Amino acid sequence: MNHEELLKNTFQLATKFLQGMSDRPVGRPVDPSSMLSALGGALPDHGEDPLAVIEDLNKAADPGIVATAGPRYFGFVTGGSLPAAVAAEWLAAAWDQNAGLYVLSPAAAVVEEIVGTWLIDLFGFHREMSFGFVTGGTMANFTCLGAARHALFRDAGWDVERHGLFGAPPITVVTSEESHVSIFASLQMLGLGRERVTRIPTDEQGRMRPDELRSSLDEIDTPVLVCAQAGNVNTGAFDPIDRIAPIVHARPGWLHVDGAFGTWAAASPQYRSLVAGIEMADSVSVDCHKWLNVPYDSGLAFVRDSRAHQAAMSLNAPYYVTGSGAARDNHNFVPEASRHARGFAAYAALRSLGREGIAEMVERCCRLARLMAERLATDPGVRILNEVVINQVLVRFSSPSGENPDAFTAAVIQRVQEDGTCWAGGTTWKGKHAMRISVSNWSTTETDIERSAEAILKCAAAANGS
Ligand SMILES: *Cc1c(COP(=O)(O)O)cnc(C)c1O
Repeated sequence: MNHEELLKNTFQLATKFLQGMSDRPVGRPVDPSSMLSALGGALPDHGEDPLAVIEDLNKAADPGIVATAGPRYFGFVTGGSLPAAVAAEWLAAAWDQNAGLYVLSPAAAVVEEIVGTWLIDLFGFHREMSFGFVTGGTMANFTCLGAARHALFRDAGWDVERHGLFGAPPITVVTSEESHVSIFASLQMLGLGRERVTRIPTDEQGRMRPDELRSSLDEIDTPVLVCAQAGNVNTGAFDPIDRIAPIVHARPGWLHVDGAFGTWAAASPQYRSLVAGIEMADSVSVDCHKWLNVPYDSGLAFVRDSRAHQAAMSLNAPYYVTGSGAARDNHNFVPEASRHARGFAAYAALRSLGREGIAEMVERCCRLARLMAERLATDPGVRILNEVVINQVLVRFSSPSGENPDAFTAAVIQRVQEDGTCWAGGTTWKGKHAMRISVSNWSTTETDIERSAEAILKCAAAANGS
């Protein structure tokens, strides 16, 4: 089998999918057993023709392929994939580079360095920040909190990488009531305990309250690791970093900002003020597969204290630091050795958009989110639960017949998902069930929003009649 015939054929299948993506039902419930019977069976004893394998896979997988990369997928916080990023990802697969070490792929190492440096500039981070490309926001949080763990124990005279947490001096982890689940997952993996945290109350939009943080910290006499957030997964709200940072830094403490999607607001002059103070953060996590619109999986951990970052993550001797101008071994910045060369897709995405294109994409998504909220709010049964500050909209439905609004909202969401015009999921906000809409895709247009809003309101009307 030669590559050429196989890849040409695969190219046809892929372009057909991409061209049809906007017209296919966005996502319909699919029975796992039908997927299993289409794709499963015993592992074959004998090898099959790659061409047949790919054609078969394409056909059998199709009902279970969700158009998350399409213009009307509004579930979770889900970006699509820019054309340049898809193309770079294809090349990266053909190149099959291991981005762990410079010698394994000088191109991958240099491209990651360029992308990290571009993003530090774009986001207005502290120039000295070091960075590592990881699989996404969760591993970015893990990496950042690992660096924080090193630094806080180091300053307390304890080498946590060498001795672990057995007998370590105390530190206190502080989150907000609204911290993302991946913060707690990271704490659990780092031995810091998902429940051994002080949780700071938030305001009605889910922003950490600086006054509450100050009074909580007054009660704590250990070093603190404070986890703030830029971009709440429900409301899109931003913790006031410019007010939080001075409170944390008035004592032995580390400020981490989970900015998985919200950090991209920094790329827009219009929205930049939402992340005011982010340059004071000790670490920041950012996703590229959300708002930059590159293929999965792609995120970055940014850490101000490069020594702590590398001491926490390095496969080499602790405290090993790459000298300036030296080759960069990317495995020293992440919890991986052999790794996907995910920098290429991000590089292509950033170059294809440029500074202006990134700002324009962020601003367009925010504008479209506001349009969606406006259109839905024309229905008297709809209530928008959040201030639409960026790309997130929370919608609650009530029926004239006075049905329980939680149950009614869930019924509307189910109808929307079955309808297939667009896809939105459910969430709970301040004890209330709501539909969550996230506009994070480069290809979404006003027409997509109009069409989706109309479909959602139709589903609400139909749920009302049932
Ligand atoms: C999506 C998200 C995460 C997790 O990121 P993954 O890329 O899914 O691992 C963490 N924090 C916030 C605020 C997010 O929106």
